[in-house]
Amino acid sequence: MNNNINISTTFTGEKGTPVFVDVILPLALPRLLTYSVPTELQSVVCAGMRVAVQVGRRKIYAAIVHRVHSETPPYSTKPIISALDSEPLVNEHQLALWAWVSQYYMCGMGEVMKAALPAALKMESETRVSLSADWDNLEFDDSEANLIRVLESKPSLSIEELSELLHSKNVFPLVQQLLTKQVVQVDEQLQNRYKPRFETLITLHPDVKNEEDLNAALALTSRAPMQEKLLMAYVSMAMPLDFSSPFQVQKKLLLEKTQATDVVLKACITKKIFEQVQHEVSRLNDEGEDDLVQMPTLSTAQQAAFDEIKNHFTNKQVALLHGVTSSGKTEIYMRLIEEALAQGKQVLYLLPEIALTAQLINRLKKVFRSVGVYHSKFSDAQRVEVYQNLLKNADEPMLILGVRSSLFLPFSNLGLVIVDEEHENTYKQQDPAPRYHARDTAIVMAARHGAKVLLGSATPSIESYSNAVSGKYGLVELFERYGKVELPEVQIVNVSFQRKQKNGSHFSPLLLKEVGEALEKKEQVILFQNRRGFSPYVECKECGWIPQCEHCNVSLTYHKRTHQLVCHYCGYTISMPHACLACGGSHLETKGFGTEKVEEELQLIFPNATVERMDLDTTRTRSAYERIISDFENRNIDILVGTQMVTKGLDFDNVSLVGILNADNMLSFPDFRAGERSYQLMSQVAGRAGRRGKRGRVLVQTIQPRHEILQYVLHSDYKSMYASQMNERRDFLYPPFARLIKITMKHRDEQTLFRAAQVANQSLRNTFAQRVLGPEIPLINRVQNRYIINFMLKIGREKSTDKAKLLIKDIFAQILHIAEFKQVEVIADVDPM
Ligand code: ADP
Ligand code: ZN
Ligand code: ZN
Repeated sequence: MNNNINISTTFTGEKGTPVFVDVILPLALPRLLTYSVPTELQSVVCAGMRVAVQVGRRKIYAAIVHRVHSETPPYSTKPIISALDSEPLVNEHQLALWAWVSQYYMCGMGEVMKAALPAALKMESETRVSLSADWDNLEFDDSEANLIRVLESKPSLSIEELSELLHSKNVFPLVQQLLTKQVVQVDEQLQNRYKPRFETLITLHPDVKNEEDLNAALALTSRAPMQEKLLMAYVSMAMPLDFSSPFQVQKKLLLEKTQATDVVLKACITKKIFEQVQHEVSRLNDEGEDDLVQMPTLSTAQQAAFDEIKNHFTNKQVALLHGVTSSGKTEIYMRLIEEALAQGKQVLYLLPEIALTAQLINRLKKVFRSVGVYHSKFSDAQRVEVYQNLLKNADEPMLILGVRSSLFLPFSNLGLVIVDEEHENTYKQQDPAPRYHARDTAIVMAARHGAKVLLGSATPSIESYSNAVSGKYGLVELFERYGKVELPEVQIVNVSFQRKQKNGSHFSPLLLKEVGEALEKKEQVILFQNRRGFSPYVECKECGWIPQCEHCNVSLTYHKRTHQLVCHYCGYTISMPHACLACGGSHLETKGFGTEKVEEELQLIFPNATVERMDLDTTRTRSAYERIISDFENRNIDILVGTQMVTKGLDFDNVSLVGILNADNMLSFPDFRAGERSYQLMSQVAGRAGRRGKRGRVLVQTIQPRHEILQYVLHSDYKSMYASQMNERRDFLYPPFARLIKITMKHRDEQTLFRAAQVANQSLRNTFAQRVLGPEIPLINRVQNRYIINFMLKIGREKSTDKAKLLIKDIFAQILHIAEFKQVEVIADVDPM
């Protein structure tokens, strides 16, 4: 593998030959735009760099150069305005990956760019610029000083406004310069500012070169006792003094020690006793070497699995580790990571969004010194830092832990990708484009780097397992929990009688009894309900009116604590009406139950227990999420009620009971993956029970106790589940026996949409015949004021999807050409989840 990727070769044509660049703009454009390169920039510009270009009459964007060439396009080109980088910001591997994502997932390169770069690396005329909170008086040239002056009077200005005020069309490079000097900050969203963290260090002034100078300095402070104290404190900390490279102390620490004020310190600086230096503090978590701990020795079963994986890697790029919950997969990953790092390689450890817990970060940090963490709940600043760090240290071994978007980091030397919980559907991006699957994209990316991929799961996706069974991937199975802890004992609880009763409880007597017993033994309980809010809908007892979202055809969910009705599709929120808005009746009944109601009722039944809830509503921020996790870990919470979130990779020691409150709404979900998903969800929640030392209990409440999937859960029988799902999918031609492309059409006007769908239906059927399903009106047929119609295409494994995609693009391009349908929105979703 070539470690030194050299893409900075600039294209310099013969003298007088025009030079062009194709650029990627952060917009949903079907193709790249070409600009000409003015002579003075020809030696500078190369692929992967950002250049400022004008689009339309006013807007300016930072675009990424995709290719430099001399092929005159058939239209007149604008020149690029300036170059923003001196080195490429995006490497060759990334550009190739963007191109693949754009082609495979049917979206524009610009849409991939938008997903791929952290906000602070994207700039456009609307980007707002402001002065950093703590910038330093460095040397500025006239134009820089000008820009700073303009900004000083305003909290922030857009780049466009800056251009006007400075009478210059070309402020991007200037802004870029000041960004690098960290004098200004830019952002699309103000909460996401890139602020590198600095600490101020104090050291001796360069004029203080020896004992003599030091004594002279001391003399200067003889009439200022605080200054003297400061200097003496410094000297005592700096002992033994080395004048050639004087000791640097944190300003904060020095001031704390001496109780001196800033003014005193400033005086010493003016007297040329001290000097102040700025030191950038890394947000990457560098821990001292001495904190490192040894990895535990693998058990025999783990060691065997590890050896098998290594064995597969000699002739296969991808291996699947199917290991039951708590079998110690993470320890195996860590061995592989260690080896890859030792070979000087980069490693990417992918996790589904929510599982990226402090727990795992801490576990990794104890073993590997530095871990770059890339996560949407981290600030943009932290993300930029991880990005730049990889770019700058292209040849260094490095471990990156991240969610799906970390695929787009500037890897140059990747050796291993771990995709943990590979079955998770959060690996698939839903909205906006690119609608990519991180696991599949990771495999494509790794292949480019010649890197190995390990997929890991206790409940592999049907697709991955079938790839493993067929021999395309290596298959390694681990059925023993670490420490030989038994898998939890699952019991199915028939609640059909209870459900039929009016005001029947959500909790079966058995569940309540066992919760009570667990609490008595000071053990913890997790209850799973896959609906958040208090109750899914509200109904008037008198006339049957159900409050609906104004913008979507869906009923509003009642949230009790905020006393609001909320649309879970668009966020539309109203306060709970006091009377029925249809008949004026005052009996509004809450129907069904969500996590909030479960939490409240439990609290009534177990008044002495600490009940907490973990769902989207209680975990809006990273700190809120981490607080719940650590409270639960520290046993400050007795019962945790939650949605899907509680199923994901959490590792708690003291959970003896897990309750699944309503298995039926999972099992009867109208989707071909419902069986697989229910199995995965239930097995994963069940896996939270009894992890160390003792066997856990799992109670599953249902009205269909004989349901096939429940039987598989009962016996932890993944293989039978797999076999039955494969049969179904073979019969009905679903993945992995076919590839799916979902096409969604949206429009504000229902009739227009219907007509457009009819035309689409005709063309699709002419081209794809019976492989088209639809047009289908979804259950929720209007979201955010737009009506929705879906088509699904099933493309046989033997057929080329590339060709199908081109045909689909053509069909819809033609439809959007018809005047009446210009405003129809068409969304393609390849491999929909
Ligand atoms: P999985 O990811 O398969 O669910 P984990 O890797 O989280 O399982 O392991 C479960 C528990 O067992 C963790 O607490 C982990 O620290 C412990 N464990 C796993 N392997 C070992 C080992 N070889 N030595 C000591 N502890 C281990
Ligand atoms: Zn009513
Ligand atoms: Zn809505």
